[in-house]
Amino acid sequence: MSILKNIPKVDKVLEWPAVQTVLAAYPRSVVLKGVRTVLEALRREARGEASHVVPSEEIVAARIAAAVERITAPSLKRVVNGTGVVIHTNLGRSPLPEKVRAQLEKIAYGYSNLEFDLAEGARGSRYSHVEALLCELTGAEAALVVNNNAAAVMLALASMAAGREVVVSRGELVEIGGSFRIPDIMGQSGALLREVGTTNRTHAADYRAAVTAETALFLKVHASNFAMTGFTAEVTAPRLVELGRECGLPVMADVGSGNLVDLARLGVGSEPTIQEFVRAGVDVVTFSGDKLLGGPQAGVIVGKKACLDPMKKHPLLRAFRIDKLTLAALEGTLALYRDERQALTSIPTLRMLTAGPAELAEKGRRIVRLLRRNLSSRIEVAPVKGVSQVGGGALPGQELPTVLLSVRVAGLSPQELETRLRSGAVPVVGRIAKGEFLLDIRTILDTDVPLLVAALKALG
Ligand SMILES: *Cc1c(COP(=O)(O)O)cnc(C)c1O
Repeated sequence: MSILKNIPKVDKVLEWPAVQTVLAAYPRSVVLKGVRTVLEALRREARGEASHVVPSEEIVAARIAAAVERITAPSLKRVVNGTGVVIHTNLGRSPLPEKVRAQLEKIAYGYSNLEFDLAEGARGSRYSHVEALLCELTGAEAALVVNNNAAAVMLALASMAAGREVVVSRGELVEIGGSFRIPDIMGQSGALLREVGTTNRTHAADYRAAVTAETALFLKVHASNFAMTGFTAEVTAPRLVELGRECGLPVMADVGSGNLVDLARLGVGSEPTIQEFVRAGVDVVTFSGDKLLGGPQAGVIVGKKACLDPMKKHPLLRAFRIDKLTLAALEGTLALYRDERQALTSIPTLRMLTAGPAELAEKGRRIVRLLRRNLSSRIEVAPVKGVSQVGGGALPGQELPTVLLSVRVAGLSPQELETRLRSGAVPVVGRIAKGEFLLDIRTILDTDVPLLVAALKALG
């Protein structure tokens, strides 16, 4: 009890010179919260031990300053992705290309012609800024962008099929994760799901047999996050388009990951491109902006003008509308696709996905050299071989050979090391495999390297 009495009172603590310095830099309410948090912790510590000694004024003040910093630090933090999962939904999917930075800043910190037609001096459309570019890149007649691909799918279904039936293969009733399930989205859009075929095999005849006066469209959902092998059959997009023409029905494809460059040609997976779906005659194609496209979170709809015009007037579009920062980043990212070589070198997601063994080995050697030069002998780093994953519901099962950085710190178990790095000022996220803490070189951006050095240095 006497020890608890030795713990200073809030008013006294606020008068300490070191705490006055904190008060000069931060709002009083925040400092007060920091002081209370630290004093409460001191009381807890004192209760636990009979022989407890209350720390010095200097130490308590330092703890208060640290608490205030913790309270005021942004919750959303830059993180070093050492997982090797390129499109990591939990880590923010695609890092934006540096080339969009200047444009993003201009639009963010000033007024813009977001919905103002500068030629006419009249109200304009926010969607106009990317429509022509999307049409140019994909070959589609019309385009529209919304918040994310889930919204794109919902808007398209609500606009084309509310109260009517949508025919989908049982093998394509997918769950993407984070509660996006095709049957649920369909339910919310007001369209009625008409499942056809079986889990592993669906034929053209199954689609045809399901058509009634109530049918609104055929929907194809790209199995972007899983792969089916064995005795399987699906109706391809071109075949489904043929069938749609025969039955007088439009065809929609939710492609999900949505790549504009032929990655298969570059040795990465075998995903069809958006252009291929458009060329096949699919009426409406939807995809994400932040998966294989490598841009900001967005949902893109491209296709026939007759199908998209009603979507542009649908009340849901207002609820799903894209923000100006997203639009600036999306326009900037899309513009890079005008030159495929430029897209491959300046869009981080594409760069990381297409990085070959020689490039990764060289990057690994460079990072190891830098770390060895900067770190104490307590920390050992060595390159080892491994595999990375694409992630983000793209190229399922595709494993890319990579270089891993094995990190060992004397006196720390791999688990302790993982926790320390994950909770540092700039968190570094890696994984433990076979008792080793590993960071995948593939997903470490050049701008991450100094952050990684600092994070490892902080371990001592
Ligand atoms: C990822 C994905 C979605 C959801 O896209 P978001 O942009 O995350 O909303 C929908 N459909 C498919 C097939 C997907 O792969």
